[in-house]
Formats: sequence, C-alpha cells, structure tokens
Amino acid sequence: MEQTLLIVKPDGVKRGLVGEVIRRWEQAGFQLIGLKFELSTKEKASQHYAEHISKPFFQELVNFLTSYPIVLICFQGEGVIEKSRAIIGATNPLNAAPNTIRGEFGSSIQCNVIHGSDSADSAKRELALWFKADELINYKSS
Ligand code: UDP
Ligand code: MG
Repeated sequence: MEQTLLIVKPDGVKRGLVGEVIRRWEQAGFQLIGLKFELSTKEKASQHYAEHISKPFFQELVNFLTSYPIVLICFQGEGVIEKSRAIIGATNPLNAAPNTIRGEFGSSIQCNVIHGSDSADSAKRELALWFKADELINYKSS
C-alpha cells in the first residue's frame, strides 16, 4: 500500500495546526500508520532536504526546520502521495488555492506549514530517514 511522509513544520506546530492537518487526512480516508514529535538535528534536516543543498535558501531552511519541534506523520492509502500534495497546495502560499493547507494557513514561501513527499521514491527515502521500521504500524482499518 502506498505511503507518504508529512511533516508539520515549526510554524504549523507553533500555530496549533497539528490537529487540523491530521483531521484533513483522516477525513480524506487515509490510514494513520506513524506519528512522532521531534526536535530535528541539523544533520537530519539537511538529509531530508538534500535535493536543495545548492539552493540559496538551503541553510535558512535547515535553520527553520530545526528551530522548533516538528511532527512526523505517515499516512497510507491508494494515491496518498499525489492526493496529499493536492491537499497541501503550492509551495508558495500566495499561489496555493484557498482550500489547501498552505493557501489557508501558509505565511511565506518558507513558512508554509507542511511538507509532503513528492514521489514514491521520495516517500521511501524520507520515511526511512524519520521512522524506524517498527515505528510504522500495520493494522487492519475498520
Ligand atoms: N523554500 C524556501 N524558499 C524557496 C523555496 C522553498 O524556503 O524559495 C522552502 C519551503 O519551506 C519549501 C521547501 O523549501 O516547502 C522545499 O522546497 P520545494 O521546492 O521542494 O517545495 P515543496 O516540495 O515543499 O512544495
Ligand atoms: Mg519538495
């Protein structure tokens, strides 16, 4: 079954949006299989955003992600990767549709509330970075 990694970023946690994020994915019919609260190291945040290492915003992005606790979430379900990106909205909140998380709650291109894996390969890599195998729980959903 397809799985994706969501991260409620520091601005989302600060503003009390953890419940809102989980609610939207539950309501969309996805199954919660992993959840943890963590203050990330610079190393882990750098690994997570490794694809952006040469971008001018990289260092600030790593500083931002490690500035405050974050919530790591794994949801499972058919089409969860693509559907999550749709619920999340465009990277820049100014370009994100009003009913998306970023459109509704994002405050800048950096502080856009949430991360979601962008492909099956990314999801696999990111889930392995943030979760140990036994922290993702397989169970029958009712
Ligand atoms: N970001 C930033 N400045 C930029 C572009 C992106 O700070 O000019 C941050 C933003 O938090 C974004 C993350 O870097 O969510 C990863 O960028 P990406 O282009 O992969 O966007 P995403 O996949 O999160 O929509
Ligand atoms: Mg991305």
